[in-house]
Amino acid sequence: MTGRGDPLSPYLFILYADVLSGLITKAKSDHLIHGVKIAPSAPEISQLLFADDSLMFCRATVEEANVIHNIILTYQRASGQQVNFSKSEMVFSKGISGDLKKDIANILPITIKEQFSKYLGMPTVMGRSKSQVFNFIQEKIWNKLKGWKEKNLSFAGRSTLIKAVAQAIPTYLMSSFLILKGNGGMGFRDLRAFNEALLAKQGWRLITQPSSLVAQVLKAKYYPKDQFLEAKSKNQMSYSWRSILQASWVIKKGSYWTIGSGDNINTWTDNWIHQRGNTTMWTPQPLNPNYVKVKNLMTNSTNEWNTHLINQIFIAHEAQQILKIPIIDRTQEDTLTWDGTMDGNYSVKSGYKAIMDWGINTDANKANSSNNPKDFWPKLWNLNVPPKHSHLIWRIINNALPVKGNIFKKGIQCDPLCPRCSTTIETCHHVFLECDWCLR
Ligand SMILES: [Zn+2]
Repeated sequence: MTGRGDPLSPYLFILYADVLSGLITKAKSDHLIHGVKIAPSAPEISQLLFADDSLMFCRATVEEANVIHNIILTYQRASGQQVNFSKSEMVFSKGISGDLKKDIANILPITIKEQFSKYLGMPTVMGRSKSQVFNFIQEKIWNKLKGWKEKNLSFAGRSTLIKAVAQAIPTYLMSSFLILKGNGGMGFRDLRAFNEALLAKQGWRLITQPSSLVAQVLKAKYYPKDQFLEAKSKNQMSYSWRSILQASWVIKKGSYWTIGSGDNINTWTDNWIHQRGNTTMWTPQPLNPNYVKVKNLMTNSTNEWNTHLINQIFIAHEAQQILKIPIIDRTQEDTLTWDGTMDGNYSVKSGYKAIMDWGINTDANKANSSNNPKDFWPKLWNLNVPPKHSHLIWRIINNALPVKGNIFKKGIQCDPLCPRCSTTIETCHHVFLECDWCLR
């Protein structure tokens, strides 16, 4: 059931919501009503209350409908507020008979709907056609854009335009859904980055506040045995979860683990060996990965690495790197540190900046950014330099030079370290931009 009450002071609302919430919680703990569970181990939810928008869940039985009715009566008596049944909606699960619906509607005189229209201004059910759902956003933006000639704008002018556009989209909508490209999607790289930065914040909360209701529910449903960063795509996923999952690469790429117990860190897929922006793991992942958790690489009792094991399974360079990492206190939880802020906590602003800095080819900006290879290659081939130079540049950009890192990745047994400085793996980036020997 959902209802929007009369305008009322927000403080009063909080008090009243508390009363209502208390009544529902009591009925639930007395087993008079039963909420919904989206997975066997998920917490049971009987209410979602936010300001004057309330959702209540119960089983479709005459008994539970009576309990809800009594709760509403009690609430009305206690608060002096009238619940406006005509502004409320009631939705049944599939398979409830028409007779039962009638019986329940006799108890709760509320309009029966196929699905709730909106909760907090957001669509509650995402059907197959996402583009329809987002049409209204597109319309809003189109109204803002009319009259702007994007191509004639200076860089500063463009960024003003983007801001105007971004403001037309409710931020909370972009915090919950990755707005699709293509039909119903937007072309702005900046906007896509903002959208992903907002969604990554949700992911960050799931990691850092695992006891929150939403974290418990999503974990039970989508990654019961794993950590958030290990969660995998499934066929049946809510659109919102899919969106959060799709933006999780931002956290994966931009943060690294500080080791406590090693319980929560995946040896093969998490960033923990190379810190600060260097995310490549060079040791090839075994087909049947053992030692899945970093904990498995430590000795059983002491705060020490299992040196023998580590030397056995990692390439020399990475084994050395690992053995340099201090194990400080194994009774502590592992902590994820975001690289983009001083305090290591993710913020939307820093996430946005990181995405823009990486210039990552997300689907959206592949097609739209000016770094489009379609524009770039003709420029390269037309440069007024000897052809062997332009070919070298082409091979560097395509990572097609036989530097040792590349040879190693192809599965050829060799020492992948840079032969000039021996400090790190020889990559194109290292050879041309980092290596002291080359910069001299
Ligand atoms: Zn070097």
